[in-house]
Amino acid sequence: MTVALISGITGQDGSYLAELLLAGGYEVHGLTREADEAVTPGVVAHRADLAVEGDVAAVLSELRPDEFYNLAALSSVYQSWEDPVATARINGLAVAELLAALRDLGQRGHEVRFVQASSAEMFGAPRETPQNERTGIRPTSPYGASKAYAHGLVGAYRAAGVFASSAILYNHESPRRSSAFVTRKITEAAARISAGLQDRLELGNTAARRDWGWAPDYVDALHRAATAEHPDDFIIATGVSHSVEDFVRVAFERAGVDDWRSRLDVADSLLRTGDAADQVGDAAHAREVLGWEPTTGFEELVRRMVDADLALVARA
Ligand code: NDP
Repeated sequence: MTVALISGITGQDGSYLAELLLAGGYEVHGLTREADEAVTPGVVAHRADLAVEGDVAAVLSELRPDEFYNLAALSSVYQSWEDPVATARINGLAVAELLAALRDLGQRGHEVRFVQASSAEMFGAPRETPQNERTGIRPTSPYGASKAYAHGLVGAYRAAGVFASSAILYNHESPRRSSAFVTRKITEAAARISAGLQDRLELGNTAARRDWGWAPDYVDALHRAATAEHPDDFIIATGVSHSVEDFVRVAFERAGVDDWRSRLDVADSLLRTGDAADQVGDAAHAREVLGWEPTTGFEELVRRMVDADLALVARA
């Protein structure tokens, strides 16, 4: 049985990846910060905090997995401005520690196939559209900078013989997205406004454009990267961007709120420092080498999120 270890198992991607791997017959282990956190049924949980030196390396050397997916992160750009030091530690330094542990295991004869969840935020405000694996890295947030550092480490360890891939993920969403993120904030508001539980929705930059995909497609890409012949960098994106306002329109229409423009407030206080204007990725390399393609388009993913939030509101 192939043994996979997933950090960030309690997050959006960790839960989808665990389901994918369990369905594929894997033995799946996950890292949780606290001992008693709930994980996907069938996953073996190990307590390890990426902010604590030695925690992950201890699990790695005992478990000796075949594949390791590093999804744990302080994953919000906003939060990274609030706590840049923790962001650097969890998203950056921890990756140095675990790559060193993997190199050590490799030198002792056990190869682990490693995939890092990198982010399009490391391109910051990109000077070219769409971005590819050779686009200049100029982060505009502590989050982007921490992911850029980890991405650089992955390349360095790959050159030193470690099987290490960097999946440069563009935004991907699902009903499991936390409402700290704008997409889920929108779909929750659409459902609540349609049920008469909320009046208005306040957002920051509604002109910001993102390349939004469907989260289960993106964990499929991570798995393809882990099982590819060679490790590499892979952009994972749909290649199509939409504005936050487009997201609001599709979500509210789905929820049956026709006067959506009059429900929307744009608040300067919610504008994000260093918010990239337009991110859109070219996933040609992943398509060619991994055979990966997104299955779900923008409108469909928004509708699925709204439907899930309408069902939650109806049950409440
Ligand atoms: P989530 O925010 O849903 O999950 C983050 C996970 O990291 C949680 O399980 C969290 O655990 C864990 N974590 C945070 N800090 C620590 C720590 N100190 N030690 C151990 N675990 C920790 O993120 P997603 O699932 O959406 O994203 C997965 C990865 O992909 C992340 O690395 C993210 O940066 C990256 N990414 C995601 C994108 C997206 O659109 N979703 C886009 C680009 C990159 P806990 O439950 O304890 O908080």
